[in-house]
Amino acid sequence: MREAMHGSAIPHPFADGGYKKLLIGGEAVDALSGQRFESRNPATGQRLATVAEGAAEDIDRAVAAARAAFEGPWSRFKPFDRQRVLLTLAELVDRHFDELSTLDTLDMGAPISRTRAGRQRIVGLLRYYAGLATSIHGETIPNSAPGDHLSFTLKEPVGVVGAIIPWNAPLSSSVWKIGPILATGCTLVLKPAEQAPLTALRLGELALEAGVPAGVVNIVPGLGGVAGAALAAHPGVDKIAFTGSHTTGQAIVRASAGNLKRLSLELGGKSPNIVFADADLDSAVPASAMAVFANSGQVCSAGTRLFVERTIYDRFVAEVAAFGAALRIGDGMDPETQLGPLVSQQQLERVIRYLDIGTQEGARRLGGEGRLTQGALADGYFVAPTVFADVDDGMRIAKEEIFGPVISAIPFDDMDDLVRRANATPFGLGAGLWTRDIGKAHRLAGAVRAGSVWINSYQTMDPAVPFGGYKMSGYGKESGTQHVDEYLNTKAVWIRI
Ligand code: ADP
Repeated sequence: MREAMHGSAIPHPFADGGYKKLLIGGEAVDALSGQRFESRNPATGQRLATVAEGAAEDIDRAVAAARAAFEGPWSRFKPFDRQRVLLTLAELVDRHFDELSTLDTLDMGAPISRTRAGRQRIVGLLRYYAGLATSIHGETIPNSAPGDHLSFTLKEPVGVVGAIIPWNAPLSSSVWKIGPILATGCTLVLKPAEQAPLTALRLGELALEAGVPAGVVNIVPGLGGVAGAALAAHPGVDKIAFTGSHTTGQAIVRASAGNLKRLSLELGGKSPNIVFADADLDSAVPASAMAVFANSGQVCSAGTRLFVERTIYDRFVAEVAAFGAALRIGDGMDPETQLGPLVSQQQLERVIRYLDIGTQEGARRLGGEGRLTQGALADGYFVAPTVFADVDDGMRIAKEEIFGPVISAIPFDDMDDLVRRANATPFGLGAGLWTRDIGKAHRLAGAVRAGSVWINSYQTMDPAVPFGGYKMSGYGKESGTQHVDEYLNTKAVWIRI
């Protein structure tokens, strides 16, 4: 990757160009191999840090530290103690929020307006898990077994968890793993994405500051195929919590077979966003545009298949394209920026390839000049928001996850046909519906096979409301009370009286 040629260095205490070590057993340590990799700002090419590159032997060490903490000091933490630690961590994340959100922006490119806006949800997530920490319990269950027996259940932490997260929202993804781990009494080896490892490392430091015992939270950056694969296959890991692409999810399922570890998988999607002619179009236009363009399309639940009722199709699609064309694209550190760069050269190439595919498939491209290279944009991976109109269900741009600012707009006429087409995908993460007809809304909310359905909004999230996929978008919920169940075993105890 190029050195930065434009833009002055942005002072940040954790992205000062220095060397960042792995966090294992409460200590900052080098990778055993001594290997390092660079983390760079995708908007400018500027080096933010050199990071110790974890590999299989570092994962071994981290898993051993996590096991020792699980069986040792952490096992003596009562629910109140875990709650207190989580509340302290929430306090610290709140106090350091500007620093953490800026780190996300520098490391993966999302506009500062977006990363700063996550404060309530991210701090709220930690407080929510703090609440759950004192609400975990089994049940007393009447039984009909011969003789007199008392039967009850215990909820126990699954043990050492390996978490593997992507680069598109590092702070949020890290908190989504650390929260339930601390609430349930599990321990963690977190492997952040190699494209954006810094926020997770900083969060690991804050966890120690919050009073989490050494070894409970270990952070091991490294390559997916090396450190990630070693974690997924590790016989000492009891569960993998993974967020990322469905192909890597499949690799993790295979790698986990050795010890049949538990899995939760939050994978990709090709979510339908459906607009009826009776919708409030003033809200539906900007929301349908941002359902894809937000975070430059690098969101697993993006509403990338935009189904629009034919009677309003041309006008609606033109307005969405115009909305996209007016978005301010640039360095995420500029408070006015609405869309930042894609995260990497590889991601840029992938998106450009899909723009070519859409054109070759005969879709009508509205706006979208492809890669943007004017002025300082030349130093980053910027792509213009693009709408493909007249897309056919069979086209690759209607079927495959692009993970860029690209909408595939598809007309529809008939409701039953629409349901079949909306569900004709291997994925099922989210779905949007825009209508003023409450009957239609309920009928479709039931018929769409997806883990979240948003009616007259898109991608609204809350710590108490479960999020997670159907079909090849994965299994296991994050947020909501189900989330802690993903980290618990249920043990039945029988007592003959
Ligand atoms: P993307 O293609 O969007 O980068 P991935 O699913 O490949 O998404 O990446 C998500 C996370 O999975 C990252 O932390 C990455 O390093 C990790 N990863 C990639 N390949 C593997 C693998 N074979 N085993 C385990 N983790 C992996």
